[in-house]
Amino acid sequence: MKVLVPVKRVVDYNVKVRVKADGSGVDTANAKMSMNPFDEIAVEEAVRLREAGVASEVLVVSAGLVNCQETLRTAMAIGADRALLIETDVDLQPLAVAKLLKSVCENEQPQLVLCGKQAIDDDANQTGQMLAALMNWPQATFASKVQLADGKATVVREIDGGMETVEMALPAVISVDLRLNEPRYATLPNIMKAKKKPLDVITPAALGVDVVPRLKMLSVAEPPKRAAGIKLAGVAELVAKLKNEGVIA
Ligand code: AMP
Repeated sequence: MKVLVPVKRVVDYNVKVRVKADGSGVDTANAKMSMNPFDEIAVEEAVRLREAGVASEVLVVSAGLVNCQETLRTAMAIGADRALLIETDVDLQPLAVAKLLKSVCENEQPQLVLCGKQAIDDDANQTGQMLAALMNWPQATFASKVQLADGKATVVREIDGGMETVEMALPAVISVDLRLNEPRYATLPNIMKAKKKPLDVITPAALGVDVVPRLKMLSVAEPPKRAAGIKLAGVAELVAKLKNEGVIA
């Protein structure tokens, strides 16, 4: 059984992002980039499925700039078997990514797509759901446990105030949440091995997909700065201040 894991290259979660001076987007020019953290969890889960003999091959796919090759190499250092870069300099929106992944699914015929629940740059939480709809496959989002047996997936999902268990027939799309696993560190020997694993490069045009953005970004702004706090001498001063400022009667 082949498992496909889409991995997105995003600004590293430790970086404090800055908005470009003209408000046209986030400045990524010198920012450290990494694999989307949820995608790392998805790669880890797919590799564990292969190690357990449930999956036979783990294919990682990234769509974006040529530098996404680094992200794909990282995924192969975690244990993915091979990689595909869909290279484009268009700023891809979730629907375009879902269409690209649909085309890859048709070519590669995976039984399972394990993606991140959301990319931490656009926070869209859409790509997996759109892919499932385009493929007409069942889907489970926010997975914190995944079990595969007899052509079915049983998924425990994190929902408001609890857990929900759903079962679906494969092929399916599952998006993973934070508590599914803790991804391993890529060791140096595995980083070296990953350099030799196959990485194919293809274009959206070769997949017959139009990736022109359908949404227009009007402006991006930083959140308002918080006013500095003040220190008060004690409770009496606090109560007086709250009364003066009309917070309490
Ligand atoms: P989003 O819908 O943008 O929040 O992304 C959800 C998931 O879709 C991510 O965690 C990835 O698994 C996948 N994904 C989104 N964009 C890309 C991309 N450009 N390349 C590969 N996978 C992506």
